Amino acid sequence: ATFTGSSVFGLGNFYTELMKGIGAAERIFELSDSENRITTTLGKKVDSTHGAIKFENVDFRYPSRPQTQIFQDLNLTINKGENVCFVGPSGSGKSTISQLLLRFYDPINGKVTFNSHDIRDLNLNFHRSKLGYVPQDPQLFTGTIRDNIVFGKSDYTEEELQRAIELSNSADFINSFPQKLDTPLGSSAGGAQLSGGQRQRVALARALIRNPDILILDEATSALDSYSEKVVMSNLKILSREKECTIISIAHRLSTIRNSSRIIVFNDQGHVVEDGSFAVLIANPASELNKLLKSHDLM
Ligand code: ATP
Repeated sequence: ATFTGSSVFGLGNFYTELMKGIGAAERIFELSDSENRITTTLGKKVDSTHGAIKFENVDFRYPSRPQTQIFQDLNLTINKGENVCFVGPSGSGKSTISQLLLRFYDPINGKVTFNSHDIRDLNLNFHRSKLGYVPQDPQLFTGTIRDNIVFGKSDYTEEELQRAIELSNSADFINSFPQKLDTPLGSSAGGAQLSGGQRQRVALARALIRNPDILILDEATSALDSYSEKVVMSNLKILSREKECTIISIAHRLSTIRNSSRIIVFNDQGHVVEDGSFAVLIANPASELNKLLKSHDLM
């Protein structure tokens, strides 16, 4: 994964200015490595971008490393409401898929479409507002747990907040603090320190309260114990059934992978070498999935 982040940071001047200057959807994404990223206020808002996601003949290299081809002629369709998982060796391009979906970067050739709309034609904040993104090491800021969950969203109901807390399996640990949702986080006096797994669940609740069409989980449950992960994944399955929320996971853990209905395996050249159901791939000793398991690229 390429997203890094500190656990809790103060609202320094730079950050508050940034929050004022950019749209709500943009705020929750990482702030580092921003120099080459796409920023534009142009583009349209359309009736619905909730549909199939397609990568069509996508070539991609990072602007800062033009000599390294990440994808060449990548073609991929993810249907509305599908629950897919990307696996592959380290550096094969799995997180880059998220970066292209979020439109941090544009393909060099080819296009990424949502419900047949080239995402380059869409207003960037409108586009990103449809996506929930949860990284492995999410950033929380000094403020209460509630502030951290509703971050960037002004119009939420208490019911929506409770549902996000429930789906992310956060209720128990939040209620274990005397001040519950009003517990301050951070390094200031009295601020609670959350574990990695708790931070991931707050970040998941933050993504879910936005009611996304597409949820991207980039190693997002890696710090959860297996029971908690199971609860979260089964909640997300309900979400994908009820709201046709498309779920895209990137994972190294077998426990995460087996919860997805479709597994897409990349090789170290960024090519899709296998695409199928977990049950079918795991049952075939010669499958790429089993090769990854043997090589310890999956745990
Ligand atoms: P891992 O399983 O280790 O998280 P990954 O499959 O998610 O790996 P990516 O993070 O997509 O792989 O990285 C693919 C390639 O692109 C790697 O060679 C990586 O070093 C490079 N890369 C990733 N992010 C950037 C960036 N912002 N700028 C330049 N190169 C990058």
